[in-house]
Amino acid sequence: MKTVPDAKNPILKSHKMKTVPDTKKGFAYIYTIGCQMNSYDSEKLAAITGSMGYERTDDLDRADIVICNTCSIREKAQEKAYSFLGTLASRKRKKPGLIAIMAGCVAQQEGERVFRRLPHLDIVMGTQAFERLPTLISRVLSSKGAGITDIDPSPAIFESRPDLSTMARDKISRFVTIMQGCDNFCTYCVVPHVRGRERSRTPESIVEEISTLAGSGVKEVTLLGQNVNSYGQKEGICSFPELLKRIDSIQGIERIRFATSHPKDLSDELISAVLNLKKVCNQLHLPVQSGSNAILKKMNRGYTREQYLGRISMLRHHCPGIGLSSDMIVGFPSETREDFEQTLDLIRTVRFDGIFAFAYSSRPNAPARGFKGALDESEKMARLNELLDLQESITRELNEGRVGEVETILVEGKSLRKRDGSKDEEKLPQMTGRTETGKIVHFHGENIKPGNMVKIKITNAYPHSLWGNLFDDPLE
Ligand code: SF4
Repeated sequence: MKTVPDAKNPILKSHKMKTVPDTKKGFAYIYTIGCQMNSYDSEKLAAITGSMGYERTDDLDRADIVICNTCSIREKAQEKAYSFLGTLASRKRKKPGLIAIMAGCVAQQEGERVFRRLPHLDIVMGTQAFERLPTLISRVLSSKGAGITDIDPSPAIFESRPDLSTMARDKISRFVTIMQGCDNFCTYCVVPHVRGRERSRTPESIVEEISTLAGSGVKEVTLLGQNVNSYGQKEGICSFPELLKRIDSIQGIERIRFATSHPKDLSDELISAVLNLKKVCNQLHLPVQSGSNAILKKMNRGYTREQYLGRISMLRHHCPGIGLSSDMIVGFPSETREDFEQTLDLIRTVRFDGIFAFAYSSRPNAPARGFKGALDESEKMARLNELLDLQESITRELNEGRVGEVETILVEGKSLRKRDGSKDEEKLPQMTGRTETGKIVHFHGENIKPGNMVKIKITNAYPHSLWGNLFDDPLE
């Protein structure tokens, strides 16, 4: 190994040397399924394989290592992983040296059983095994034996952060995991079983990571945890609002978002932090899952519909205009039409900016698997579509209400969408970014770069985005 200065980044250049291997060994293709936490974990995997000499590629044909970072939250996501990894059997026949790896939640949940369906895999590694990946790959390279399984739950990687010197620096917005696991045991959820019990990183390591990101040009961070509101409580290190305060003072960071907040733990201090800390965005993702008290109880969510609505009122009172989003599960076992109507009613009452909604999917290890009263798939899908139609009409109305307003946008990059109908040759570059409340905005602009803050006057509203014109020059 040798060290070279990092030419792209003056701050890293002066404080840190980039570590690269003497010889490039090949390419690593990483396929991510699931949540933001998995995206962050895939960055770690890219950093680890990068430090071993495998350059990340988006071209599966070039890959020498293929990693599928899996999600087991729903059966569909799990099957997607099996299907993708299944296609690697023929690739391995054509390229025998190809190393095929299943990582993440499905691997943690299924362990050795994965090899019954996918005998061509080389490694099945769980959520806590990432740091051991170099050893696992060495074992594969030095032997032609059976596939290797590592689902040891010891959280070796958690306090270590990605090697930022090997990570791509073209993004101005990054995820930062501040905690892992969960102690809540909602009855439909596999997270406590595949990611373990809740544990928090130290504030020092989080601040160090974000300071380094800021030094490399990152403007926005999204803090990730299954329940950020309980950050640091078990360890007694520092509360989540205190952590936000520390991050708010990091130079170079412009915006701070976080997910996910559990409604039962949403404290007045956190509401106050959203209100008072300049860089913390006026936005909250607060999963309710159901509007029926009977279903919430069966889900073991720890709050009632009334308590949830009380927190929403408090938020709207203190943080006017706050962007609110939520998660919903329809068709939970024994959900009656009346229960479902209460969910629709809650959506009409709150008028979320957006929701993520799913039909209930029974998962191994989750207690709800044994619950009576399973609904037909057709009924679940009918309810899901009804709910999504309702939410889409609300989102469209809320978006239309933004027309004529001026929004401050953090520019993320070029936009792929073409909404205005103008011919390509007439176009200025089309850019995209987000409002403080999390709405996506597209606009035309010259000399605008990712990371700029610009003011945009909204001219058009669409179901999932807004369109506007530059209101004045970039703010920076
Ligand atoms: S709070 Fe509930 S749904 Fe969220 S990760 Fe924990 S157990 Fe799963």
